[in-house]
Amino acid sequence: MATDSLETYIKGVRESNRRMLAKTITLVESALPAHQALAAMILDRLLPHTGQAIRLGISGVPGVGKSTFIENFGMSLVRKNMRVAVLAVDPSSSRSGGSIMADKTRMEKLVLEEKAFIRPSPTEGALGGVARRTREALLICEAAGFDVVIVETVGVGQSETRVASMVDFFLVLMLAGAGDELQGIKKGILELADAIVINKADGDNIEKARLAKKAYENALSLLTPSSPSWRPPVLTCSALMGTGIEALWDTVLAYREKLAATGEFDQKRRRQSLDWMWVLVEEGLKARFYSNREVQAHLSKIQQAVENGTVSPTVAANDLLLLLEKKGRENGNCCR
Ligand code: GDP
Repeated sequence: MATDSLETYIKGVRESNRRMLAKTITLVESALPAHQALAAMILDRLLPHTGQAIRLGISGVPGVGKSTFIENFGMSLVRKNMRVAVLAVDPSSSRSGGSIMADKTRMEKLVLEEKAFIRPSPTEGALGGVARRTREALLICEAAGFDVVIVETVGVGQSETRVASMVDFFLVLMLAGAGDELQGIKKGILELADAIVINKADGDNIEKARLAKKAYENALSLLTPSSPSWRPPVLTCSALMGTGIEALWDTVLAYREKLAATGEFDQKRRRQSLDWMWVLVEEGLKARFYSNREVQAHLSKIQQAVENGTVSPTVAANDLLLLLEKKGRENGNCCR
């Protein structure tokens, strides 16, 4: 990819030029060191222009209706004259070879909207990398003036936790089952949710959705809410028919109003920034450890010694960490 000048990127993003917006996000997603250096400068310059959007996370298992929901929800925001960006975090995309957003039929109306911008999941890398790039894409969209940034994720593994840690409001879409609502639902996901929406509450499913709503309300009442000012509600909707979608937006606004009044809204964002810094520090340390030549040279021998029981895990771990330090002190000389 040929790169433009720093100023061209900044200007393009600030003017919300779609091509430059996409190009800037591609740059941020690039693994090339030269691209990363330029991306860091761009992000630094854009940072003062971020923070204005409502950041919304939407999660749910494949088939729950996320894209149908986002299509309808996004269109209703566009009709309110708001600009909406949709980003995806799909940790499985690199494995399956197809992004959850790659299907052309997803969000077919929204994708044509001038006021909407849809970005598929970065297709390479582990969840950590995908989440980092999505977080940076979110900031870029904010600097481009979007009013709402939606981050969509599939309900698997750690991706929900990652997404919840970058948004203001985390919405979990669920399906009504046959009375066995809470089976197989991780408690963790309920703890992350700022609202639960039972989707497909239409036709024969309306009564089941009502029962599911009760079951989730009961389950939520047993948890301590993450904010003293907010008890996560359980709503029902039909993304297909477009019912219950407006109520959800009102819920998001009510949340923002309540938490802004107590100062929690900004506090949450500040905490998220700090948490994010620590995630990056930890990831950086890990990357340095595994790419360290001394560590690489000694790793299998030390691992074997632990397996054989000739060295204790504690001593081995210490030895490995010392290898990291020694390299710095002795300028790359081998330590043993
Ligand atoms: P995703 O995998 O979570 O993005 O789910 P999709 O949005 O692709 O929806 C999966 C299937 O469920 C599609 O066939 C949709 O038409 C259908 N669907 C989505 N929302 C609803 C709804 O509210 N009611 C009904 N009856 N079907 C829905």
